[in-house]
Amino acid sequence: MFMTKLPQNIIVADIGGTKMALGHLQNIHATTASAGVLTDRLRVADPIAALERIILEYANQNQLEFDAVVLGVPVSLDRNMDLVLSGPNIPQLEGLKLATLLQAKLSKPVRLERDIVLLTLGEQHSGAALGASSAVGVFLGTGVGAGFLIAGKPYRGFSVGMELGHIPIHGRGKICVCGNLDCLEAYACGHTLNELGKQFDIPVSELFSARNKNLIPALQDFVRDQAFAIATTINLIDPEVCVIGGGIPLMQDFPKEKFKHLIFDHLRRPYPKQSVKIVWAQLGSSASLYGALAVLEERL
Ligand SMILES: [Zn+2]
Repeated sequence: MFMTKLPQNIIVADIGGTKMALGHLQNIHATTASAGVLTDRLRVADPIAALERIILEYANQNQLEFDAVVLGVPVSLDRNMDLVLSGPNIPQLEGLKLATLLQAKLSKPVRLERDIVLLTLGEQHSGAALGASSAVGVFLGTGVGAGFLIAGKPYRGFSVGMELGHIPIHGRGKICVCGNLDCLEAYACGHTLNELGKQFDIPVSELFSARNKNLIPALQDFVRDQAFAIATTINLIDPEVCVIGGGIPLMQDFPKEKFKHLIFDHLRRPYPKQSVKIVWAQLGSSASLYGALAVLEERL
């Protein structure tokens, strides 16, 4: 009975730092239709009107009568999942009640979810963490993001929760995009790879294949810092499943097996070392479509 109330045609937009990926579900089945638009289109005086245009353009291109919209957003939201508290990537959204304002423009339900939580929900709904009683998703890309689901529900801390990219490490005084010193993201995220690519004059996509004597130790540090952050998360939370995704593990010659070993070597024994399942994400960007279904099932 409940299912019949769910929207059938849902537009899902995953807003990244550079690109916005749009897709949709038709009769609640994920479709392969997709479109990418530059996130720069939102870096304008009226980002709500821009979002409305982007969504209507997508609906038009796909001749879709949509009845709900789910946005995965790279920002901190208030507990009502509406007001944008902080978004250094898209400062134009800060202070706006994004869901309320867009819903008023479109006259359709709009739900927001943190981008990483949307992907983690998708992997639990239909992917690598299917059926897990508790799951942590860690996504290694431009930033380092984590989501934690207990009995299918996102853990949100007292205010936001799971800011894995901003746990302090090293103490060498390097500034992070958030303004603090010595966050994980100051030392080991996608930006770090861009810096290394420039420093060694090697295309970023080929960094892990390169055999430069000075680059190799820098990449070993990078991989270790990310693995340690995941081990810390697993030791602290003890989830049934930990899903690792994002663009970095998919890079050519990324040392996936060594990465898993580094994590396991630093897990407390006997548990969670013997109990946790560490798996690679299976759904790629379409995880956000399945995640959107989970969001609407819970919050509509
Ligand atoms: Zn930070």
